[in-house]
Amino acid sequence: MKALTNRQKEMVNIIDDDACGSNWRDWKWQIRHSVKDLDTFEELLGTKLSDEEREKFKKVTEKFPMSVTPYYMSLIDTEDMHNDPVFKQAFPAMSEMTLQKCEMSDPLSEDKDSPVEGITHRYPDRVLFLVSNVCSMYCRHCTRKRRVGDVDFIPDRTVMRKGIDYIKETPQVRDVLLSGGDPFMLDNDLLDWVLSELHKIEHVEVIRIGTRMPVVLPYRINDGLIDVLKKYPPIWINTHFNHPREITSSSRQALKKLADAGIPLGNQSVLLAGVNDCPRIMKALVHKLVANRVRPYYLYQCDLSEGLSHFRTPVGKGIEIMESLIGHTSGFAVPTYVIDAPGGGGKIPVTPNYLVSWSTNKVVLRNYEGVITTYKEPDSYEPWFCNRECGDCKLTLKLEDASEHKCVGIGKLLSDHDKTISLVPENNSRHERRD
Ligand SMILES: *Cc1c(COP(=O)(O)O)cnc(C)c1O
Repeated sequence: MKALTNRQKEMVNIIDDDACGSNWRDWKWQIRHSVKDLDTFEELLGTKLSDEEREKFKKVTEKFPMSVTPYYMSLIDTEDMHNDPVFKQAFPAMSEMTLQKCEMSDPLSEDKDSPVEGITHRYPDRVLFLVSNVCSMYCRHCTRKRRVGDVDFIPDRTVMRKGIDYIKETPQVRDVLLSGGDPFMLDNDLLDWVLSELHKIEHVEVIRIGTRMPVVLPYRINDGLIDVLKKYPPIWINTHFNHPREITSSSRQALKKLADAGIPLGNQSVLLAGVNDCPRIMKALVHKLVANRVRPYYLYQCDLSEGLSHFRTPVGKGIEIMESLIGHTSGFAVPTYVIDAPGGGGKIPVTPNYLVSWSTNKVVLRNYEGVITTYKEPDSYEPWFCNRECGDCKLTLKLEDASEHKCVGIGKLLSDHDKTISLVPENNSRHERRD
C-alpha cells in the first residue's frame, strides 16, 4: 500500500488529532469528514480566499451545496488552485447562479419518463434505476443538480421494492442500470439485497452500476464490496474520470480490485470547459484509462442543466477531440461522443464525417490523416427480401437465441417488411392542419 502524500498526512492531523493514517483509507471516515464549509476548506488546504470569494461561496452554496471528500480535496494543487481541474469540479463557482434561458432543472426529462419512483424507462430494453440520492461528493457539473442536497437519503426497501417490481413485471428489460446519487453509498448489506433481487429476475441479463467512487473515494472499493459484487455476475461498472490527474495510486488500486474480480470497466467523461476541453488532455486520459483496464465508453457534451453554462463548450470542441483520437490511437481507447437530447430523446452520437461522397458503385472516404480513398462496392448483390420470417431465411438465425424486437425509427424506414415511408413528428402544426 502506497504511503499517504504529505498533504494527506497534514489533513489527517487537522481533521482528527487522534487519528492514525489508517483512518484515511476508511471510506466511512472520509464521508464523515466530507468538507462542506469554507473554514475547513481553507484550513485543510492551507489557503486563504478573498472576502469577495467568501461572499460568493455563501451565495452559491445556499442553492447548490458543497461537499468534497478529504481524499478528492487532497488532489488539488494549491500552487495553481484556480486553474486546477479538481478544484473546478469540487468548488462552487459564482457562474452557477446565472440561469440561462436554455437551461432546465431536468433537461433529460428523466422525471417525465418515470413509470414508478426511481425508474426512468426510456429505451426499449433497459432502465435507469436510481437507488441512492446521495454521493460521496457533489460534482459541480452534476446533471442531476436539481436533486443535490435536496434531502440526502437512500430509499428504503419498500421504495426500492416498487422499482424492483416494475422491472419484474416488464419482461423486455434485460439491462438494469443502477445510478443515483452513487449506488456505492449503499452499505454492503443493502446493496447485496438490491443486487440479489435483480439477479433473481430471469429476464435481467446484465446489471450495470454507475459510480464515481474510484475517482472521488477509491477506498470504498474494499474487499467487502468486491465479495458482494462477485456474487451477481455479470455486473458491468462505469466510472467517471474527467482528467488524467484524477488517476492516482489509490484510484489505480480500486480499479485493479474491480478488474481482478472480473468486472468489465468503462468510463464516462463529461466535456468540461477549463477542465478537459483539450485533445492532449483527453488523449492522456484515455491512455491512462486503458492502461488500468478501463474502456472509455462515452464522452458527454455537457447537459443543459441549471448553472452549468461556464462548463459548456461548443459541440465543435468535442468533434475536434474525436478527430484527434479516431485513428490516432487504439480503437478501444476511443469513447463515443454523445449529446443527451434535451427533452428526453436519449443519447445521440456525434462524430466527424469520414464519408466524403458516393456514387452508384463507389464510396469516397477520407482517413484520419486526410488520405482520400475509394471503396468499390460489389457489382452484383442480391438483396434478400426480409419479411421477418427468419425461420425461412437462408441466413441461419437460431430463433431461440434471438430476441424479438420491433423495428423503430430509421431502422423501420430501411426495412423491407414495413411500408412506412416517412417519420412524422406528432403534434406539430403541420400535422394539426391535416385533421
Ligand atoms: C444513458 C441511459 C441509459 C443507458 O444507455 P446506454 O447507451 O445503453 O449506455 C439508460 N437509460 C437512461 C435513461 C439513460 O440516460
